[in-house]
Amino acid sequence: MPDRHTSAAKTSPNAAESGPIPGAESAPDVVSVLLPLPLPGAYDYLVPAGRPLHPGDVVRVPLGRREVAGVVWDRPADGPPAEVPANRLKSVLSRYEVPPFPAVQRRFLDWVATYTMASPGAVLRMALSVPAALEPPRPVAAYRLRAGAPPAKLTAARRRVLAELADGPARPLAELARAAGVSPSVIKGLCDLGLVESVALPPRPVVAAPDHGRAGPSLSADQAAAAAALVETLAGGFAVTVLDGVTGSGKTEVYFEAIAAALARGRQVLVLLPEIALSAQWLARFAERFGAAPAVWHSELTTTQRRATWRAVAYGEARVVVGARSALFLPFAELGLIVIDEEHDAAFKQEDGVAYHARDMAVVRAQLGAFPIILVSATPSLESAVNADAGRYGRLHLPDRHGGARMPEVTLVDLRRHKPQRVEGVGQGWLSPPLRQAVAETLAAGEQTMLFLNRRGYAPLTLCRTCGHRLQCPQCTAWLVEHRLAGRLQCHHCGHQAAIPEACPACRTEGALAACGPGVERLAEEVAALFPEARTTVMASDTVSGPSAAAALLTAIVAREIDIVIGTQIVAKGHHFPYLTLVGVVDADLGLFGGDLRAAERTHQLLHQVAGRAGRAEHAGRVLLQTVEPTHPVMQALASGDRDRFMDLEIETRIRAGLPPFGHLAALILSDPDAGRVDGVCRALARAVPGADGIDVFGPAPAPLAILRGRHRRRFLLKARRGLRPQPFLRQWLAAVRIPSQTRLQIDIDPYSFL
Ligand code: ADP
Ligand code: ZN
Repeated sequence: MPDRHTSAAKTSPNAAESGPIPGAESAPDVVSVLLPLPLPGAYDYLVPAGRPLHPGDVVRVPLGRREVAGVVWDRPADGPPAEVPANRLKSVLSRYEVPPFPAVQRRFLDWVATYTMASPGAVLRMALSVPAALEPPRPVAAYRLRAGAPPAKLTAARRRVLAELADGPARPLAELARAAGVSPSVIKGLCDLGLVESVALPPRPVVAAPDHGRAGPSLSADQAAAAAALVETLAGGFAVTVLDGVTGSGKTEVYFEAIAAALARGRQVLVLLPEIALSAQWLARFAERFGAAPAVWHSELTTTQRRATWRAVAYGEARVVVGARSALFLPFAELGLIVIDEEHDAAFKQEDGVAYHARDMAVVRAQLGAFPIILVSATPSLESAVNADAGRYGRLHLPDRHGGARMPEVTLVDLRRHKPQRVEGVGQGWLSPPLRQAVAETLAAGEQTMLFLNRRGYAPLTLCRTCGHRLQCPQCTAWLVEHRLAGRLQCHHCGHQAAIPEACPACRTEGALAACGPGVERLAEEVAALFPEARTTVMASDTVSGPSAAAALLTAIVAREIDIVIGTQIVAKGHHFPYLTLVGVVDADLGLFGGDLRAAERTHQLLHQVAGRAGRAEHAGRVLLQTVEPTHPVMQALASGDRDRFMDLEIETRIRAGLPPFGHLAALILSDPDAGRVDGVCRALARAVPGADGIDVFGPAPAPLAILRGRHRRRFLLKARRGLRPQPFLRQWLAAVRIPSQTRLQIDIDPYSFL
C-alpha cells in the first residue's frame, strides 16, 4: 500500500493554526485529497458536516494561503491512522459540479505515478490540466440586429456588420467580427448606437455525435477479416492487437470499423496520433466516415477549446477524442477502446516533467478498464513485435496495398560512387546524379517528388574558414543552426536565437563564416537552381506554423499545385498524396549512428514511412536512398523489403546485450547551474548504489548534451535483467542521498533519448 498518506499527513501544511473546528468533536469525517502539485502524496481534509464526499469528487480546498482544486483520493481501508489530529485539519471548501473521477481513472493515475516514479500530484496535474473546466461554462454573448432602420450615415465597416446580421441568427462577437472583416469594437459601437443588441446563447457543444451507423467503404477480404477480428475483441475484455499492415493497406479504414463498433456499444473511443497538428487528412476522413468531426486534443488548442473539450469528455458528450499523448489523461466517463496510430513513433514518449510513454501507459489504461486497445503501424516497434511473437498481443496482417497499388521500388544510391556535383551559382550540391535524373524524369512525367532530409534550417553548422571557430549556443553544448529564411541562428535545444554575424566572433575576419552541411532550406536552394521551373515547397515544423497552415499545404500538394516537396519528418507521417511517385532520401544515414540503442530500428521505421509516401495510388512509385553505408542492415532491409529479417537481427542484438525489451533501462539525469555541485551529488550517488543481483548502474557521465539552458547535466544509466523492476531499486538508492534543492533530478524509466 502506498505510504504517502502517513508521511503526507505529517508534513501537511494544512493543519489549522489553532483551535478546534466547530462541530468536529464527534468523530469527524476525514478525506484524502490529491492536489495537482508535485507533493509527495494526498493531504487530509475534514468533510463539511452534512455534505458527504466520495472518492473521485473534485473539490476545492485551502492550501497554505491559496485555494486549489483537487480530487478526493482513495484511502487504504487498513491504512495507518493519520498523524495530524482531526481537530487540526482544515475543511474542504466546496465540491465542483463535475462528474467525479471514475475509480479506474484514479487507479490509472496512481499506477502511472508508481511506474514513472513521478509524484502522484504531478500525474494528476496532467488530468486536471484545465482548472477553468471545473467551472460551468458561461453563456456566450451573441449579437443580433435590433428593430429599426439604420441611419443613412454609417461607415462601410458598420454597414458590413449589419449586412452580416441581416436575416440571420445572433452570432458570437469574434465570429461576427471575422465574417464582417471588422474589429470587435465596431460591433460594440453599433451596440452603443442601439442598432445591434447582445443576447446570451447557451454554449455550443464541442462536437456533434459521430454516426456509427453510416456505411464505410466496402472492404477487401483481408481488410474485412482484420476488421472483424478487431470488432470481436470488443466483445471481450482487455486485449492488445497489433494491426500490422504495409503503408496504404487501409489500416485506418479497418480500425474505423472497430471505432464504429465501440460507439455502437455505447463506449467512448480515444485515438492517439503522433502529430495531431498535422492530421488534417485524418480528420477529414473521420468526418466523412462518421458524419461528424471528432473532438481533438493537442497543445495548440485555445484555453476555451480545452475547457469545452475537457468537459465534453468528462460528461461523455465527446464520443471520440483524437489527440496527442496527453489526451490519455482526459477524464473519460465511458472509455471502451484506444487506438494508437503509428504506435512505433517516438513522439509518444514524453521526456519532460512526468516521463512516460503514452503507448505503454495506454496499454495499462486499457487493462485497468478491461477493454481492447489497437496498436497500428507498418513498422511495429520491436517491443510490440516481441509481445506479438510471444502471444501476449494479437497480430493482424494487411500484406497488400489497397486497390492494387504496388509497393514502391527502393534503390540504394551509393554516395561514394555517385558523388553529388557542384551546382552553378550555389556551390556544393547534395543530390547525386541518379537522384537528379529521377527528379527530372518525374517532373517531365507531370508527377510529384518528395525530397526528404530530416534537418531543419539552412545548415546545421557554421564555421569560420579563417580560424575554424564554430558558432555555438551560449547556453548549450550544441551548434547554432542557420535559418536563412528567418535570417537567424537558432539553438534547436533551448530556442536561443541570434543574428547571423558579419564577422567571425573569434578572429573578427569578415565574410569568412561558411555554412557546413545541408538543411532543408539549403536543399531548396539547390533544387531551385537545378529545376527553376518546378513549383517547390519546404515543409518543416518551423516553416509550417500551425494546423491550418499545414492543412493548406497538404491540400495544395494533393491538388498538384506543387511539384517538389522538400521536407523533414513531418512529411513522412500518414499523408496520402496520389500523384507522388518519387521519394528521394537525401541522407539515409542521418540518425543511424550516435549510440542510441534504437538508432537502427528508428531509422528503419522513419525511412520505411517516408518511402511509403510514394506510389500510393495507381501510379507506381520509386524511392532512392542516398547512403554511404549501402551494406548496413537497415539499408538492406529497406531495399529488399525484408522487414522481418531485419527485425530478427535487431532482436538478436538486443537479446545478447540484455537491452529492452529483454531487460529494463532507467536513466537518472542530474542537472545544476553549478558544475561542481552536480558532480558532488553524483559522487554521493555513486557511493550509495545499493548492491543488487541483476542490476547494474553505469555512470555518472557527462550527458552528450552536457550543458542545456545553462545547466550542467550528468547521467546515470541503470540496467536491470529481464523480470527485475528498476523502481524499488531506485527508491532504495535515492532514499540514501540528499539532493540539494538547486540540483534537478529527472528519472526516466524506459528512456528513449540518451542525450
Ligand atoms: P494506411 O493507414 O494503411 O496507410 P489508409 O487507410 O490510409 O492506409 O488507406 C490508403 C488509401 O486507400 C486511403 O486513401 C484510403 O481511403 C484508401 N482505401 C483503403 N481501403 C479502402 C477501401 N476498402 N475502399 C476504398 N478506399 C480504401
Ligand atoms: Zn541552446
